[in-house]
Amino acid sequence: MQREFVRRLGSPTLSQTPVILHAFSRPAPIVRGVMLVTAFSCTARTPASGQPANAHPRTAAEYPSILSFRTERIADGVYAFITPEERSSFQAGNSIAIVGDDGVLVFDTGNIPSMTRRQIAEIRRITNNPVRFVVNSHWHPDHTLGNAIYRAAFPGVTIIGTSATRDGIRDRVPTYVDQMKSFAPIDSVMRLRLATGRMRDGTPMPDAVRLTWGLTTRDYAEFMPEVVRTTPSAPDRIVDDSLTIMLGRRRVQIVSPGRGNTAGDAFVFLPDERVLLTGDLVTVPCPFPGTAYFADWVHSLDALLARRPAVIVPGHGDVQHDDAYVRLVRELVAFTLDRARDAVQRGIPVDSLQRQIDFAPFVQRFAGDDPVRIAAFENFYAQPAMPRAYEEAKAAPARSSSASPPPWQRGLQRGLHPPHVRPAPVRAPARRASPHRARQIARAGRHLRDDLRRRHRHQRRVVEQTARHQLLRPRQRERAHHFAELHERDLRSDGELAVRTQLAQQMPVPREQHAPVVARPGDECDVRRVGR
Ligand SMILES: [Zn+2]
Repeated sequence: MQREFVRRLGSPTLSQTPVILHAFSRPAPIVRGVMLVTAFSCTARTPASGQPANAHPRTAAEYPSILSFRTERIADGVYAFITPEERSSFQAGNSIAIVGDDGVLVFDTGNIPSMTRRQIAEIRRITNNPVRFVVNSHWHPDHTLGNAIYRAAFPGVTIIGTSATRDGIRDRVPTYVDQMKSFAPIDSVMRLRLATGRMRDGTPMPDAVRLTWGLTTRDYAEFMPEVVRTTPSAPDRIVDDSLTIMLGRRRVQIVSPGRGNTAGDAFVFLPDERVLLTGDLVTVPCPFPGTAYFADWVHSLDALLARRPAVIVPGHGDVQHDDAYVRLVRELVAFTLDRARDAVQRGIPVDSLQRQIDFAPFVQRFAGDDPVRIAAFENFYAQPAMPRAYEEAKAAPARSSSASPPPWQRGLQRGLHPPHVRPAPVRAPARRASPHRARQIARAGRHLRDDLRRRHRHQRRVVEQTARHQLLRPRQRERAHHFAELHERDLRSDGELAVRTQLAQQMPVPREQHAPVVARPGDECDVRRVGR
C-alpha cells in the first residue's frame, strides 16, 4: 500500500515515472536510478543500526555537498574517507587508507577527481610512506575511477582486483560518462518543475519531491564537471581467491568470496584489528542490487559475518560498530530471492510479482521516516531488485537461499582460503528460430539499429539545448520545455524499443559459440558452462 502511495506521488510529474526510471537505467546498470519518487505516510520509527532516527535535514541546502568527505580514524593507522550517504547516483563510494610501516594500502578510489586528490593530500599529511597498493572492491565507477589519479601520484603503485573487476572496468566503465550526460534532459525537466513549484499536472509540488529533486539537480551540477575528467584504469594484479599483504608488521587480507554485488567482489579484513572493509557487498542506506547475484550475495555476506568484525566500513554510508546492519541486508537479499523463486515456481510473471511484493517492513527498518532514505530504498533497491532476482531464479530454480552454501564457499566461511574455483556466469541456453522468424528478427534488428542512431542524434541535440538552458533565459526556457516534451515522448516509445531489443536478442547463435549448459551437483549457481 505504501508503494502505491509512492507511485501516486511520483507519477504526475513526468508522465510515467517508472518508465523513465527504467529507460534511464536499462542501457547498463551503472546508474542505480534517480530520485523520482518521494514521500511516505508511514509511521516507521525504527531505522536500521547506525541510522539516526528523526534527524534528517528538511531542505536540500542542509545536506553536505557530494564533493565533500570526512576522515574518520577507525583503528590505529586506519583512516576511512566517508562520503555523503547515497541519494542521487552522482556520488563517490567510501575510500579507506591503511597505513603500514613501509607503505600505504588504499581500498577504493571514488569517481570525483578533486575529492580523490584531496584524499591523497590527507594521506600525505598522515604519513610520509607512499601508497604501494590500491585494492578495488568491484568494478563500479564510483569505486574505481580514481585509480588513474593514484597511478599518477604514486608511479610504483600496484592496483589489485578480481578478474570480474578488471573486465568490468575495461568493458563497461568507458560508457559511464556518456550515461551520466544522458541524464541532462531529465535534469532539465526537474529544474523546470522546481522553478515553477508545480508538478506536470499543475498541482503544487510536495515537500518531499522538492527535497529529493533539489538534491538530485544540485548533485548533478556538481558531479558532471568532475566526472568528465576521469579516465578508467584497470587493476594490474588479479586476486580471485585471497591474498595477504604485509604492510610492515600489519596484516591485510584481501578476499574474494566470489559473486555477490557483482560477478566478482573483493573485501579487505584486518585480522588483528578486526576491521572489515566491505565494498558494495554492504551499503548504507540500502543495498544496490543492479548487478547482483542474489544467491551468491547471501553466501558472500555470510563470509563477511564469519570474520566477526568489530568495525565495518560499508561501500557507502556510515561506519558500523556491530553486524546488525549486515544481517539486515542479508535478510532482505534472501527474502527477495525466496519471493522470486516462489513466483517462478508458481508461474507468476515478474510484472505481477513486482506489483504484489511488499517491502514495507524493510522500508521501515532501513529508512525510518526519512523521505530521502525512503526514496533511495524505492529507487535503488525496490525497483531493480525483483526483476534481477527473478531472472536469476528463472535461470537457476533451486534450493532456498538459507540452504547450505556450495562446497567452494564453505571453507571461506570458516575463514579458510577458497579453492581456485570460479563460478561461471549464469547463461540461458541458445534458442533456434525458424527461417521465417529469423528473417523477421533480422529486420527488427536493422530497425533497431537505425532507431538507436536516430535516438542518439536526438539525445545530443537535447543535451546541447539543456546545457544552454541552464542559464534560464526566457526564450531558452520555452525551447527547453519543448525539448522536455519531445524527450518524454521519446521515452514512451522506449517500450517498443525494448520489445525489438528482445527480438534481436533471440537471433539464432551459431552452435560453436555456445557450449552445452549443465547443472553440477552442489553448485548454488546450478548452471555452468562446461567443455571448451
Ligand atoms: Zn558504490
